[in-house]
Amino acid sequence: MNVAVLGLGAMGTALADALLAAGHRVTVWNRTAARADGLVGRGARRAGSVAEAVAEGDVVIVCILDYADVGVLLEEQAGGGEALRGRVVVNVTNGSPEEARAMAKRVAGLGGAYLDGGIMAVPEMIGRPEAFVLYSGSRAAFATYQGVLDAFARSVYLGEDPGAAPLNDLALLSGMYGMFGGFAHAAALVRSAGGPVEEFTTGLLVPWLRAMCGALPAMAAEIDSGDYGATGSNLAMQVSHDSIGAVSHAQGVSDELFAPVFALMRRRVAGGHGDEGFAGVVEELLRAP
Ligand code: NDP
Repeated sequence: MNVAVLGLGAMGTALADALLAAGHRVTVWNRTAARADGLVGRGARRAGSVAEAVAEGDVVIVCILDYADVGVLLEEQAGGGEALRGRVVVNVTNGSPEEARAMAKRVAGLGGAYLDGGIMAVPEMIGRPEAFVLYSGSRAAFATYQGVLDAFARSVYLGEDPGAAPLNDLALLSGMYGMFGGFAHAAALVRSAGGPVEEFTTGLLVPWLRAMCGALPAMAAEIDSGDYGATGSNLAMQVSHDSIGAVSHAQGVSDELFAPVFALMRRRVAGGHGDEGFAGVVEELLRAP
């Protein structure tokens, strides 16, 4: 396949290398031209302009820093008119669902089909089995080019709405930051008592979090059904003492990460849901002012 890659930062370079390794004919362009040198040495073709790269690619991968600049590249530098006619733009630049929907319309205006992508990996993971990439947008384009996209990671198609990939990408990152936040508080508690954080993490925290991950599908089913009655650990019991807050203060550790979660749990109990489990706090979040 002829694939063009626009944007050769850490991620764009990893994507282009994966395409080369899969045997595709790869044309690369980067605003700072010298950043393409390594890839050219490894077999990529250098394009002198965005228009030249786009002309060479049946699939055009765009991987730069923000959507506004993607619009400039495609509308002002790709050759104008119907420069994208017959081509598929796969934009893996991070953005919002609204930006993705607007970009799909702009690409259609230039004659092309559009897929938005959310890369669930760091550059070093590209081409490795634990990585996956979310796609949404043109079903036909995904069906035609999945074989090419599979060079990056496991490809997951989320439907025709171009906004689905960025929404799910951000939801996954929010889950990750929640876990990182929990880790930070746990590590601060252990450190405040002089304990070795590494030993605590590998010996206790990781096995505990793995076990707790097992509870998430049942909680998700409660959220989908709106029936929060099927719990073993009720919320009233969980908020009866703010032990985590109290011990944190006693240890000189800020509870600023945990306090908002505890406040939500208390609000849920105050609303008459003390006999239900944790999953119901999602109802409080859905009522955001
Ligand atoms: P880098 O900072 O390594 O590279 C940024 C790239 O964007 C460079 O090629 C840069 O060109 C280009 N660029 C910036 N502004 C413009 C512009 N106005 N016109 C043309 N090109 C421009 O970032 P990454 O490669 O890490 O990230 C790229 C995208 O991938 C981002 O949207 C990021 O969110 C996403 N991503 C990154 C992950 C990661 O772990 N790195 C993980 C998942 C997604 P130049 O060399 O000329 O400066």
